[in-house]
Amino acid sequence: MSFEIDGPGPGSRAGPYGEDELLPVSGLSHMVFCKRRWALIHLEGIWADNRHTAEGSALHAAVDQGGSQLKDGLVVARSLRLRSIALGLVGVSDVVEFHPLPSGQGPDEGCTLPGRPGRWRPVPVEHKRGRPQPDDCYHVQLAGQALCLEEMTNATVERGYLYHAAPRRRQAVDIDPALRQRVRQVAAQMHALHTAGRTPPAVYHKKCRACSLLHLCLPQSAARGKSASRHLSAGLAAMMESEE
Ligand code: SF4
Repeated sequence: MSFEIDGPGPGSRAGPYGEDELLPVSGLSHMVFCKRRWALIHLEGIWADNRHTAEGSALHAAVDQGGSQLKDGLVVARSLRLRSIALGLVGVSDVVEFHPLPSGQGPDEGCTLPGRPGRWRPVPVEHKRGRPQPDDCYHVQLAGQALCLEEMTNATVERGYLYHAAPRRRQAVDIDPALRQRVRQVAAQMHALHTAGRTPPAVYHKKCRACSLLHLCLPQSAARGKSASRHLSAGLAAMMESEE
């Protein structure tokens, strides 16, 4: 079943970005994790799965069925298209729950839904494999989806959830002013990097060991100025590390 929000609709609000300048909202998490990773994927078209990303893709495939259903009093929409002209973002949500608001709410509260009476509060839910991460990359991605939903519906999104497959747990994320500002900042950096069209140099961090692009990026050898043969050896070693 197709699902569309009964609101002002994408593109109805004037913003600084044109339709062909929108960038994937999922890129926000890559930007926070590592700007070079974002550039390798989005500027150079490089992608490689490791066990973590493959499991993540399988998890998303399970929720990317589309459509909506009424469940426990909530309208649950899957694979809803998202867009923010103001931030220059586009994407597809895993899940957006619409929570019913008490009757008698005015037009400033929540949004309407096609074929459903009353007003509803949108709540994005992003599915992630594994445990919560120490950095805020997933929080920024989720908040980016929240700001897209706000622009599309004119409803305030106060909270979202990260659903972690292991352990099966929902983590509430308040879409507070600091997180909103962080999304605006990261989105602006992402567009600046896209406009510049230059991939930042590799800098080896501890987190590189969890990056699926480690064997293509080779940050250890780039940082140490290694010869081509040692570069290749480092690449093979990195590939084995990333598959552990
Ligand atoms: S290996 Fe490290 S430096 Fe290279 S893209 Fe991944 S996180 Fe960034």
